[in-house]
Amino acid sequence: MDRPTIHRLDEATVAQIAAGEVITRPARVVAELVDNALDAGAGRIEVTVEDDGTDRIRVADDGCGLSRIDAERAVERHATSKLPAETGADPTGVSTLGFRGEALAAIADCATLELVTNDGEAVGTELRVDDGVTVSNAGRAQGTTVTVTDLFADRPARRESLAGEAAEFGRISELLARYALARPEVRFSLSHNGNETFTTSGNGLRDALLGVYDAGTASRSTVIHHETTVDNDELSIAGVCCYPSVTRSTRDHVRVSVGGRPVTDTGLRRAVVSGYGSLILGGKYPIAAIDIEPPAGTVDPNVHPAKEEVGLTVREEIEAAVERAVSEALTTADIRRTDTAATDLDTELAAVDRSDPFGEVRVIGPFRDLYLLCEDGDELLVVDQHAAHERINYERLRAAVDDEGVSTAPLDPPETISVAPAAAAAAERHGELLSDLGFEIEPFGGGTLRVSGLPAPLGRVADTDSLVETLDQLAAGHQPDDQRNELLADLACHPSLKAGDRLTRSEAEQLLDRLGECEQPFACPHGRPTVCSLDESTLAAGFERGSTRFR
Ligand code: ADP
Ligand code: MG
Repeated sequence: MDRPTIHRLDEATVAQIAAGEVITRPARVVAELVDNALDAGAGRIEVTVEDDGTDRIRVADDGCGLSRIDAERAVERHATSKLPAETGADPTGVSTLGFRGEALAAIADCATLELVTNDGEAVGTELRVDDGVTVSNAGRAQGTTVTVTDLFADRPARRESLAGEAAEFGRISELLARYALARPEVRFSLSHNGNETFTTSGNGLRDALLGVYDAGTASRSTVIHHETTVDNDELSIAGVCCYPSVTRSTRDHVRVSVGGRPVTDTGLRRAVVSGYGSLILGGKYPIAAIDIEPPAGTVDPNVHPAKEEVGLTVREEIEAAVERAVSEALTTADIRRTDTAATDLDTELAAVDRSDPFGEVRVIGPFRDLYLLCEDGDELLVVDQHAAHERINYERLRAAVDDEGVSTAPLDPPETISVAPAAAAAAERHGELLSDLGFEIEPFGGGTLRVSGLPAPLGRVADTDSLVETLDQLAAGHQPDDQRNELLADLACHPSLKAGDRLTRSEAEQLLDRLGECEQPFACPHGRPTVCSLDESTLAAGFERGSTRFR
């Protein structure tokens, strides 16, 4: 019944395949196994890791599975189903993530590998590769589970070169995040020592962002669908980019993939960042995940042993298109041309490059004491007065903190609070950062903290809730820098105008003036837009006036 689809590559093909040691650390095992699961068409991939990964890594998928005869071949060196069985087969243009046929063999070489698989038959196959290969029957639904144990057990030098449990698991976690964002239609889950650390739903990019980050981040993002051509061939760019107000202090959160393959490509990453232009200030980087589908035949996946880079024959054109796609997604320029966009509150209005964006704007009046309606040429601007005020306060606080640091207001008498174990651990670990932020705390053991001082920049005193929140975020792995900004954003919120505050005309004009002076006037510090605009042509279309020129 079984006709093998896996075959050995011939010498000529092997000779042209980029060589190199493939399995250098636990994350590389995960990468190869996830590649295989995706190539098998999996809709769901579960990764479980114990300790630093050398003890045990398991990747289970619901892909096509392997017949018994193929399972036995799969662990042989240079055996693959992904390149044609012909002399000198060319890996350029393969659409699978794998093609070298050596990952399973390389893993089995430096670990114990167990593969349980079923390609839809009544009985599945279990293969154990240790000193020899043993094959037996196994019960399993269609799909494959590969378990790798005792990695590098007989390679002390490799073990020595590993960076410790937190760092090695960190790499695995980052790797899975990259896959989850590059393949948003696949459900991913990652568990570490029995705890689920993240899951994605397989329901698209926003949801993937939600799984990898959080609801706040996902809600402050816009999705990109950009089609263009290079020399008459189609180039498509899809992805998600967070609003410019959501930033990180490293480029690590700018993720790119080519044809669904995550790559660490400096040029493409730079192109994404360039798309944000001046919306993000120096030293800050956005969160974005962009997948590029270049024209057929222009990608060479065979340039890097770990397949982390690809060769692109039309690189310049692709980089330019990526930059344009991101920039267009973030600016209103193009969005304003469409009828629906003006009411799309999800889309942030990007900063138009003007030194005084509200110089020519005339205040019409308040609407429901929440919004200011303003006239700006042939556009109607709607300003969210609370969001605008928050932005102004935030930038003032940030300037004050940059100048003088965060001052502390004593809490008298001190308060004792209890927090989750992870938060208490974060308090111990980030003592210095917390005191820089203006918190005076003393861990008491058993998850309790004594709080004797709270941040009070410009006299705005934080509350103990903000401490709990900060600790939770730090425990969840947020960057200290982001934490500082988030704290300032929350403090900026407290004394800001509330819904229902009525502004006089001169107060309204002042609010616009101050907003215009901000570095980023178009988003509140939490990333929500401060201003929406309605083009007159949209109104004209709504009132069925046709061309506005002949009114
Ligand atoms: P490559 O992926 O480069 O072909 P591998 O050593 O990673 O090489 O895998 C060898 C072969 O085993 C693959 O070509 C594929 O046919 C099969 N295989 C590996 N993992 C899976 C999986 N999870 N599901 C189905 N088939 C798999
Ligand atoms: Mg593979």
